[in-house]
Amino acid sequence: EAKVVKLKNSIKNIPDFPKPGILFRDVSSLCQDKDAFALSIDMLYEAFKDEKIDMVVAAEARGFVFGAPLAQRLHAGFAMARKPGKLPRSTLEESYDLEYGTSTLQITEDALQSGQRVLIVDDLLATGGTAEAMIRLCKHFDVEIVCTAFVIELFDLGGAVKIKNDYNIETFSLVEFP
Ligand code: 5GP
Repeated sequence: EAKVVKLKNSIKNIPDFPKPGILFRDVSSLCQDKDAFALSIDMLYEAFKDEKIDMVVAAEARGFVFGAPLAQRLHAGFAMARKPGKLPRSTLEESYDLEYGTSTLQITEDALQSGQRVLIVDDLLATGGTAEAMIRLCKHFDVEIVCTAFVIELFDLGGAVKIKNDYNIETFSLVEFP
């Protein structure tokens, strides 16, 4: 589809970043293209406009770039999953495995309300560790996780399958790469 090709062409591929052997898909080049950036938010909005989303939850930092404008378009609230030590009030936290070591995301303990319909957003789905930490953060609350949504999915890394198997939650992505 032309729209997907437009988005794909706006994403620069950076070999050997952040380390040798990794092909980094750079969403900053998509954001710098005003048409591609608008198109990405339009396409996410079209996918979820009828889902009665109450809250968008997104991960620091690139998830905020897409999550916040999408939340505003959906007329939903926006909750930030942040790296440790950034949020000034009481938080809940979940850790997840990286290739080497672990990482942690925190959310304010009153970020979500019982019964809300929640959409989880990030720029890119790789192994799914980041998304699963956001799912576990949301599961501290009595909410309905409608979907996890991404601009880019690296499908060979199996994140969508893991999210489906572990949590029975669907994923949605605009652009897919192996
Ligand atoms: P995961 O936790 O699914 O393995 O990795 C996804 C997270 O790592 C996302 O928050 C994303 O920002 C970052 N990430 C991993 N690989 C890439 C990449 O190739 N490009 C970009 N832009 N982010 C990546």
